Amino acid sequence: MENVVAIIPAAGSGKRMQKGVNKQFLEIGGQTVIERTLGAFQNADRVNRVIVVTKKEEIESVKAIAQTCGFTKVKSIVQGGTERQDSIYQGLKETTDQDRWILVHDGARPFITSAGINEMVENLVSRNRDKSVYDTESLILAVPSKDTIKRVKDQCVTDTLNRAELWNVQTPQGFSREVLIQAYEQAKDKGFKGTDDASLVEWAGHKVFVHVGSYENIKITTPDDLYLGEAILKKRGAL
Ligand code: C5P
Repeated sequence: MENVVAIIPAAGSGKRMQKGVNKQFLEIGGQTVIERTLGAFQNADRVNRVIVVTKKEEIESVKAIAQTCGFTKVKSIVQGGTERQDSIYQGLKETTDQDRWILVHDGARPFITSAGINEMVENLVSRNRDKSVYDTESLILAVPSKDTIKRVKDQCVTDTLNRAELWNVQTPQGFSREVLIQAYEQAKDKGFKGTDDASLVEWAGHKVFVHVGSYENIKITTPDDLYLGEAILKKRGAL
């Protein structure tokens, strides 16, 4: 089976959490955010290897968590960069040409499930098998937008976007290694910045498809998300 490697960026500063500690080390239901995230990838059969990107001073803490929890798929823990894009670039350097597929998943999205990861990998790989139908090496998790989204300039609405066409994009985002590396190299050369991995791949001229995700796959960003996280665990009977 083709090798799948996951890059988990966890090197953010988490300023919006206002806790003075990297949000990935906060606990929800007695487990840290990063522990939950890595656990999902450890238990996903379709993932062979995990690369964690974190701050230099947090490498040892992540190593300790991986050891204590028996996360044997975590093979590299490397230092990130200033922007998320820089962190992913550092993670990409740890991949090899043995790795056919790369999943990128925010360390701060702990409610992704192993089943959800496996399903997405299967969709990515099978779409690629039948190139005559899809011709894509990129697939991202997303959910239809529940809110109406408006464009606003100087606190004045300039445009109301058609909600039927809008999706909230999540991670994992999956790509062939070739496509992702090429997009990242090109973006670095030309100074292009994107807010997710797929935007670099789109900018580099590739098609990106959507895999319908779950509204539970939230990103832990502000203090409210910790309460939301507890509610998700309760719903799952895990709290
Ligand atoms: O800041 P935001 O929540 O959008 O970050 C998404 C993910 O990217 C988080 O898991 C965060 O730790 C990571 N990140 C990173 N390096 C940065 C900024 C963010 O690895 N420089």
